[in-house]
Amino acid sequence: MFNSIPILMYHGFLSKEPDSKIVNYDSKHISIELFEKQLEFLSKNHTVISLEESVNILKDKKCLPKKNIVLTIDDGYRSNYLLAFPILSKFGFKATIFVTTDFIDQLNYLWFDRLEHAINVTDKNNIILKISNTTHEFKLTDIDHKIAAISKIKSKLKRIDAQQLIDIINELETNLIGDSKETIRNSLIYAPLNWSDINNMLSSQLISIGCHCRSHVILSKCSKDQTFEEIKSSKNRIEEKTGRKCDLFSYPNGKSDDFNIETVEILKFLNFSSAVTTIIGANNHKSDLYQLNRLPITGQGNIASFKRTLNPISRTLRKLKNSI
Ligand SMILES: [Zn+2]
Repeated sequence: MFNSIPILMYHGFLSKEPDSKIVNYDSKHISIELFEKQLEFLSKNHTVISLEESVNILKDKKCLPKKNIVLTIDDGYRSNYLLAFPILSKFGFKATIFVTTDFIDQLNYLWFDRLEHAINVTDKNNIILKISNTTHEFKLTDIDHKIAAISKIKSKLKRIDAQQLIDIINELETNLIGDSKETIRNSLIYAPLNWSDINNMLSSQLISIGCHCRSHVILSKCSKDQTFEEIKSSKNRIEEKTGRKCDLFSYPNGKSDDFNIETVEILKFLNFSSAVTTIIGANNHKSDLYQLNRLPITGQGNIASFKRTLNPISRTLRKLKNSI
């Protein structure tokens, strides 16, 4: 009764280290060897269930089975299909991939990847940006300054109005790399899944596709109309291209101040069954189905740190069991 369901959160996968230290500086993409070791560990110690199954268990207040775990992958990178899907298939594990539909449709690459790419390849020594009426100068003289600039700019842009964010990214890209901005399309690490990849994965019955909006803007920084449009058109696009119902949602950025009551109301109105956040923790019968916690998995650690990531949950559970 006091078990919980952890939902792991991945993003992308790598078959080799990128040439530049700036690319994947935050280890969001993990090596496929490490991913395989993690799944090997899960196959021996846990039962991987789908997000849909876990939502049903939580919703129906069914007895929580021990050692259940859920796999989710955000954003919709092509490495999900080329690298992770064969490993998931080998173990017969289910996973949910939350796709950003304008990215899948190749209308726009993800804004934070455009920022990372522009700063990586620019030969400019600095960038001056006006963000919320304050002018900031960021030095780009070496790798460390470039990484610090990406990290600072990203966190500032996450706090401003969604349209302003896109305008600043467009301006920054033009200023730093001008005509070379399309070179991002040559990097496999930043590439999106296509609909054929998605439908191939769907036919395996192992993968389900969830909605992660059209353009990965932060919904609490959007107007109500824009939020509605971001969610509804993305859900419609997925359903149109896959022929399947899409009722799982993942909030872009996913921290508690990245969505609000209005966002949840829209999700309920559009018949989503649940939504995952990036708030760290596991889930139990007290969890709000529209604010499910997750455990982020990055490439920073090794298999030992992966086991430790899963450990706090058992510690919490032991504490709960001891308290009754
Ligand atoms: Zn995301």
